Amino acid sequence: MERTKSGTVDFNCPKCKARLTAPRMDRGNRRTCPHCNAAFKVPLSAPAADPMNVHVYCFDCKATAPARLSYPGNNAVEAVLWVAGILPGLCYRFWRKSDPGLACSRCGSARVHPSESAAVHE
Ligand SMILES: [Zn+2]
Ligand SMILES: [Zn+2]
Repeated sequence: MERTKSGTVDFNCPKCKARLTAPRMDRGNRRTCPHCNAAFKVPLSAPAADPMNVHVYCFDCKATAPARLSYPGNNAVEAVLWVAGILPGLCYRFWRKSDPGLACSRCGSARVHPSESAAVHE
């Protein structure tokens, strides 16, 4: 996914909303905003920066909609894996929680394009 800027995390200052960038290794660490001096924790993943301000193009709605955070996979698959055994279920859950993505806030679809412009050709 994040091939272009794999080394950094982009997020907004929780106080002044300034756009900030931190090295990925700083995730979860305390930092101070250079603009307003507010202390905050670097978010664990890029989309955690105020998802309500992000719009995505939804391939199911065929429209641009506000994004919300979603976790890959689904509960049905996880339930099956839990039945299959503790380890597959645990691995699947870990994978899901470790990689949150964006989803359409209208229909919940994860088939979205996190593009500012709606110019997406299918
Ligand atoms: Zn700030
Ligand atoms: Zn949608």
